[in-house]
Amino acid sequence: MAIFESLKNKRETMYKYRRVKVTNPLTEWNERYVLSIDNHQEIMEALAHFCKKQKIKAGEITGIGAISEATFRFLDPATKKYVDKTFAEQMEITNVTGNISVKDGEPYLHVHLTCSRRDYTCVGGHLLSARINGACELIVTDFGLTHLGRRPDAETGLNLYDF
Ligand code: FE
Repeated sequence: MAIFESLKNKRETMYKYRRVKVTNPLTEWNERYVLSIDNHQEIMEALAHFCKKQKIKAGEITGIGAISEATFRFLDPATKKYVDKTFAEQMEITNVTGNISVKDGEPYLHVHLTCSRRDYTCVGGHLLSARINGACELIVTDFGLTHLGRRPDAETGLNLYDF
């Protein structure tokens, strides 16, 4: 069980941040998981299930893998409308990066993924779903916080951190 201490929220001109120090008596580090998702599973669904089971309220995700399909979402800042696009082909996940928080009592995963095609060009973006075809190897870090929330932001149309 992680013991944590968090310092006060701070605000600078261009950003806000919270410094968090996590001390685990055994590892002297955050709770961290190696997560290997089964072949043919959908990544976001599996991740949400994992976070719920492990009761992760705030954390970080990184990883690599291979997929046969990915759907990305693009938010047009001018219209605040979403444009979704699916790429149905075999691709390597060159990077998946995301964060974990909570919204309406459920895990809120904000994940971006970049993948390379057969011709080595890359596509990527804000991930809605991706079907594994090969492997998906992730590192999930649990910051040990009891809550890290989200709230809708009218200006951007995004769900921003609520702190
Ligand atoms: Fe995003």
